[in-house]
Amino acid sequence: MTRYIFVVGGVISGVGKGVATASIAKILQGKGFRVTAVKIDPYVNVDAGTLNPLEHGEVFVTDDGTECDQDIGNYERFLNENLSSVNYMTTGGVYYSVIMRERNLGYGGKTVQVVPHIPQEVIDRIEKAGKEHKADFVLIEVGGTVGEYENLLFLEAARMMKLATPKQVLVVLVSYLPIPESVGEMKTKPTQHAARALNTAGLQPDIILARAKVPVDEPRKSKIATFTNVAVEDVISAPDVDSIYEIPLNFEKDRLGNRILKKFGLRESKRDLKDWTKFVESSKKAGKAVRIGIVGKYFEIGDFTLTDSYLSVIEAIKHAAWQLKRKPEITWLSAEHYEKDRKFLKELERFDGIIVPGGFGSRGAEGKIRAIEYCRTRRIPFFGLCFGLQLAVIEFARNVVGIKGATSGEFNEKAKDKVIDVMPEQKTLLEKKKYGASMRLGAYEAQLKKGTIAYEAYKKTMISERHRHRYEVNDTYRDALIENGMVVSGVNPIKNLVEIIELKGHPFFVGTQFHPELKSRPLTPHPLFLAFLQAAGRGRKK
Ligand code: GLN
Repeated sequence: MTRYIFVVGGVISGVGKGVATASIAKILQGKGFRVTAVKIDPYVNVDAGTLNPLEHGEVFVTDDGTECDQDIGNYERFLNENLSSVNYMTTGGVYYSVIMRERNLGYGGKTVQVVPHIPQEVIDRIEKAGKEHKADFVLIEVGGTVGEYENLLFLEAARMMKLATPKQVLVVLVSYLPIPESVGEMKTKPTQHAARALNTAGLQPDIILARAKVPVDEPRKSKIATFTNVAVEDVISAPDVDSIYEIPLNFEKDRLGNRILKKFGLRESKRDLKDWTKFVESSKKAGKAVRIGIVGKYFEIGDFTLTDSYLSVIEAIKHAAWQLKRKPEITWLSAEHYEKDRKFLKELERFDGIIVPGGFGSRGAEGKIRAIEYCRTRRIPFFGLCFGLQLAVIEFARNVVGIKGATSGEFNEKAKDKVIDVMPEQKTLLEKKKYGASMRLGAYEAQLKKGTIAYEAYKKTMISERHRHRYEVNDTYRDALIENGMVVSGVNPIKNLVEIIELKGHPFFVGTQFHPELKSRPLTPHPLFLAFLQAAGRGRKK
């Protein structure tokens, strides 16, 4: 029998509902159950692929090429499992399937209605995820906060499921408790309102995760309990923590796992998260700092710096650094800065390693190219991810091979020397403006060349990594690049596409056409991130 736990948000968004969902999943997995998690995004986009990362954070990609919300990345990292298209849905995606089915007479001439057909499609998808993952528990995270118009139909799905199988469904409310500076006290009222908003949708929270700056004390726990109709033991304290990976352990301090099992009528379990606890403890003991600069553009939003667009890169750095017993220190560097004046490049000297992550379009690209040139010539460890590889090839073509006008078709379609160019099968898609879910997406293999940095890192000849791009290294220029010293260390065996480049005689200079960050896990850091952090950790020889 599969059981379902809906996780909904109250008061404000951005308080870590995704990580809370992943943490509950982890706790239950630790107790020996098979667990999977589904993310529901209430927007009308069919998937996350067409969203500007500044709007919605990173676009995560699964092995099967689903472009989804960054929380899928959190689930994968916490559960150490590969997820797929069944683990993600949006309002747009749900309506799209229902409309397609109606067009194919799939409803046999019936009137297709918002209720029940839309929530029923949601329920079918949730159940499908459970079946496909053979799950004992399916966690379902409903995006947004209760009381919003957008996610009502998903709450309706939860209500319908609970009505049909009350013993198989739980509702967890992740709420926020502010401590206004002028008052100096943690306030529970917004949470009371959130629970009431949930009641209006026909749902009663079974458990409340009380997110706040500090742990929630007993008087406030009992106040929340009284006003929201929840047992005091089911108000779980969820204070801010240094590392998201501590959260399952924190929840367990309030015995969340066994509370959930009990509510489902299951036997309590003494099993806990042994390896995870060890990992969290050793990460806290990490010693000397390793300073990594990330040259990007998707983080300056008005007066705020939001780094969600590069979430998996940040996590991959942490996993590798911790394994090497080093403390990761990440700094955001604005690519456009280097376009204004080369003198700003000098700041790169302060870092042990520089990453140029994925990206799209020409804004900031020349600044990144300047940063890459600086890393190459000043022998600063460099790691280029997807766009980072493409720009490293452009830099090398211009400054080493001597092709002054080298560029990417992404910046100038009519340029003479497009050392990076659109893949042939992508060309017609772009001409027809078929942008959605049409990039080279998901897992593809690469064959590694022995004796290279890449081979030494992976220690095998065939790897599989996740992709999300339309452009590639133009084969016309491959020989010239190689003759001038660039090493092509990874190649797709079927299409012969360049997958990894590197430079010899440099402390670390590697670019990948894929996104290695998407496959890094806390207990098994990505081999290339490990190699990069290792090189960075050696420090610079002046
Ligand atoms: N814009 C580049 C492309 O489409 C790189 C994409 C990326 O970095 N994910 O090929």
